[in-house]
Amino acid sequence: MRCPNCGKRRLVPADDITSEIEGYTFVEQGLRCAACGEEFIPEEQSQRMIRVARRLGIWGEPLKLRRKLSRSGRGTVLRIPTDIERSLHLRGDETVLVSKAGKKIIIELGG
Ligand SMILES: [Zn+2]
Repeated sequence: MRCPNCGKRRLVPADDITSEIEGYTFVEQGLRCAACGEEFIPEEQSQRMIRVARRLGIWGEPLKLRRKLSRSGRGTVLRIPTDIERSLHLRGDETVLVSKAGKKIIIELGG
Protein backbone atom coordinates (compact mmCIF):
# COMPACT_ATOMS: atom_id res chain seq x y z
CA MET A 1 0.00 0.00 0.00
CA ARG A 2 1.32 3.39 -0.98
CA CYS A 3 1.17 6.40 1.28
CA PRO A 4 -1.64 8.63 -0.06
CA ASN A 5 0.34 11.62 1.16
CA CYS A 6 3.74 11.14 -0.47
CA GLY A 7 3.17 8.13 -2.72
CA LYS A 8 5.97 6.01 -1.27
CA ARG A 9 5.52 2.41 -0.15
CA ARG A 10 6.58 3.05 3.39
CA LEU A 11 3.43 2.53 5.48
CA VAL A 12 4.23 0.63 8.66
CA PRO A 13 1.92 -0.38 11.52
CA ALA A 14 1.96 2.03 14.45
CA ASP A 15 0.31 1.63 17.83
CA ASP A 16 1.18 5.02 19.25
CA ILE A 17 -0.89 7.42 17.19
CA THR A 18 -2.40 9.98 19.50
CA SER A 19 -5.51 12.12 19.26
CA GLU A 20 -6.37 14.73 21.79
CA ILE A 21 -9.91 15.47 22.94
CA GLU A 22 -10.59 17.99 25.66
CA GLY A 23 -7.20 17.44 27.25
CA TYR A 24 -7.45 13.63 27.13
CA THR A 25 -4.97 11.88 24.92
CA PHE A 26 -6.18 8.77 23.12
CA VAL A 27 -3.75 6.24 21.72
CA GLU A 28 -4.82 4.51 18.57
CA GLN A 29 -3.47 1.89 16.23
CA GLY A 30 -3.02 2.57 12.60
CA LEU A 31 -0.42 3.06 9.95
CA ARG A 32 2.34 5.59 9.74
CA CYS A 33 4.36 6.51 6.71
CA ALA A 34 8.06 6.00 7.40
CA ALA A 35 8.90 8.51 4.69
CA CYS A 36 6.72 11.54 5.47
CA GLY A 37 5.30 10.73 8.93
CA GLU A 38 1.64 10.92 7.86
CA GLU A 39 -0.61 8.86 10.15
CA PHE A 40 -3.65 6.88 9.11
CA ILE A 41 -6.25 5.65 11.59
CA PRO A 42 -8.71 3.00 10.43
CA GLU A 43 -12.35 3.93 10.85
CA GLU A 44 -13.03 1.24 13.48
CA GLN A 45 -10.23 2.63 15.63
CA SER A 46 -11.70 6.13 15.38
CA GLN A 47 -15.11 4.81 16.30
CA ARG A 48 -13.66 2.99 19.30
CA MET A 49 -12.05 6.22 20.49
CA ILE A 50 -15.33 8.09 20.08
CA ARG A 51 -17.16 5.44 22.14
CA VAL A 52 -14.63 5.81 24.94
CA ALA A 53 -14.83 9.60 24.76
CA ARG A 54 -18.63 9.43 24.98
CA ARG A 55 -18.37 7.22 28.05
CA LEU A 56 -16.05 9.77 29.65
CA GLY A 57 -18.55 12.47 28.81
CA ILE A 58 -16.06 14.49 26.83
CA TRP A 59 -17.55 13.77 23.46
CA GLY A 60 -20.21 16.27 22.67
CA GLU A 61 -20.79 19.50 20.88
CA PRO A 62 -18.88 20.94 19.28
CA LEU A 63 -17.41 17.84 17.75
CA LYS A 64 -13.73 18.25 17.32
CA LEU A 65 -11.40 15.66 15.87
CA ARG A 66 -7.81 15.95 14.90
CA ARG A 67 -7.46 15.05 11.28
CA LYS A 68 -4.63 15.42 8.88
CA LEU A 69 -5.14 16.81 5.46
CA SER A 70 -3.99 14.73 2.55
CA ARG A 71 -3.01 15.46 -0.99
CA SER A 72 -4.84 14.18 -3.98
CA GLY A 73 -3.97 14.83 -7.59
CA ARG A 74 -5.96 18.04 -7.73
CA GLY A 75 -5.46 19.53 -4.30
CA THR A 76 -5.79 19.19 -0.57
CA VAL A 77 -8.37 16.79 0.83
CA LEU A 78 -10.05 16.73 4.23
CA ARG A 79 -12.00 13.62 5.09
CA ILE A 80 -15.02 14.41 7.24
CA PRO A 81 -15.08 12.09 10.26
CA THR A 82 -17.96 9.59 10.18
CA ASP A 83 -19.34 10.88 13.45
CA ILE A 84 -19.76 14.40 12.10
CA GLU A 85 -21.11 12.98 8.87
CA ARG A 86 -23.77 11.06 10.79
CA SER A 87 -24.76 13.84 13.11
CA LEU A 88 -25.21 16.24 10.19
CA HIS A 89 -26.85 13.56 8.01
CA LEU A 90 -24.44 14.26 5.19
CA ARG A 91 -25.09 12.53 1.91
CA GLY A 92 -21.83 13.62 0.37
CA ASP A 93 -23.21 15.76 -2.43
CA GLU A 94 -24.00 18.90 -0.48
CA THR A 95 -22.76 22.32 -1.41
CA VAL A 96 -20.65 23.95 1.29
CA LEU A 97 -19.22 27.37 1.89
CA VAL A 98 -15.59 27.33 2.92
CA SER A 99 -14.19 30.39 4.59
CA LYS A 100 -11.14 31.32 6.58
CA ALA A 101 -11.14 33.03 9.97
CA GLY A 102 -7.64 33.46 11.29
CA LYS A 103 -6.26 29.92 11.59
CA LYS A 104 -9.71 28.34 11.37
CA ILE A 105 -11.27 26.91 8.27
CA ILE A 106 -15.02 27.13 8.56
CA ILE A 107 -17.18 24.79 6.53
CA GLU A 108 -20.82 25.77 6.36
CA LEU A 109 -23.55 23.64 4.88
CA GLY A 110 -25.89 25.06 2.29
CA GLY A 111 -24.11 27.51 0.07
ZN1 LIG B 1 4.18 9.35 3.12
